[in-house]
Amino acid sequence: MTSNAHLAADSGPSTELTLLIPCFNEQCVLAQFHARLLNAVEQLNITFEVLYINDGSQDDTAAIIDQFSLDPRIRSLHLNRNFGKEAAMRAGINEAQGRAVIILDCDLQDPPELVPLMVQEWRKGFEIVNMQRRSRHGDSWHKRVTARCYYAAMDQLIDGFDVPREVSDFRLIGPNALAAIRAMDDNAGVLKILVSWLGYPTTEVNYDRKPRQAGQTKWSTLSLLNLGADSILAFSTRPLRLYSYVSGISFLLGSLWIAGVATFGEPTYQHLLMQAILLLCLGTAVVGEYVARVLAIISPRPNSLCKREQP
Ligand code: UDP
Ligand code: MG
Repeated sequence: MTSNAHLAADSGPSTELTLLIPCFNEQCVLAQFHARLLNAVEQLNITFEVLYINDGSQDDTAAIIDQFSLDPRIRSLHLNRNFGKEAAMRAGINEAQGRAVIILDCDLQDPPELVPLMVQEWRKGFEIVNMQRRSRHGDSWHKRVTARCYYAAMDQLIDGFDVPREVSDFRLIGPNALAAIRAMDDNAGVLKILVSWLGYPTTEVNYDRKPRQAGQTKWSTLSLLNLGADSILAFSTRPLRLYSYVSGISFLLGSLWIAGVATFGEPTYQHLLMQAILLLCLGTAVVGEYVARVLAIISPRPNSLCKREQP
């Protein structure tokens, strides 16, 4: 298995567009995806590269994308192990040579035929082109429910900017936004929220999300919940604030009760002890999550490592 990342120099700064494809165990669908992608992009009058990021696949993904990259317009980057899609996308953004980047899933849920439309929107002057799902064919009920809860939580907890609904990672990111993202720490936050936070001129284009063409989703309900928690923790301190309010109100009521100013039925000491313990557990959990984030940010480790040939 070899990485041909050294071909980057060949694409040079004149490359207008990078098609960034994170892949993890996608051997069943890659050939079909690649053919459709090239077919769509070749129709455009644009210089491009396709950058496959192999996120530690254990199947034949690595061999397949290395085969593709015999074509000088295609590059493959192999991460040392599975670091997760967020890390794979960030590695791809750091590595991309194109002025703009379009991120696509390789399971054909994001139709490659929409790439020309995205480029058209970019040329109109939009820095970010978000592809917004009109429908979610093939997504399980638990995926739909988790997605709904995710957007509701974002609305409630994130302040100062809007997170567009039904927009995932299928988007075009223009040169200014790419420069801003690259200037930030690897752990600056979940990419789709970070892109909204940047505040560049953005447009949404509707599309029908297709069912996965082959293979299986890599996301469990737990990993979706983790993504939701990461999205909130990186961009909002509202959970901490809410906890402060809950603690403050409890303190006030408790003080009134101790002073005999107010009575709340006849609470037993066991009740009060239980309430105090629950409050403490909640606080430890909320603060613990933020401490974990701080540790991730100050950690000297990058969020992924790739295999490169020694010069
Ligand atoms: N992916 C990845 N690393 C991972 C999980 C997924 O690079 O750890 C890639 C995967 O190969 C696909 C894209 O991310 O190209 C979306 O993954 P998936 O289809 O499993 O997610 P879903 O569409 O179900 O949200
Ligand atoms: Mg998918």
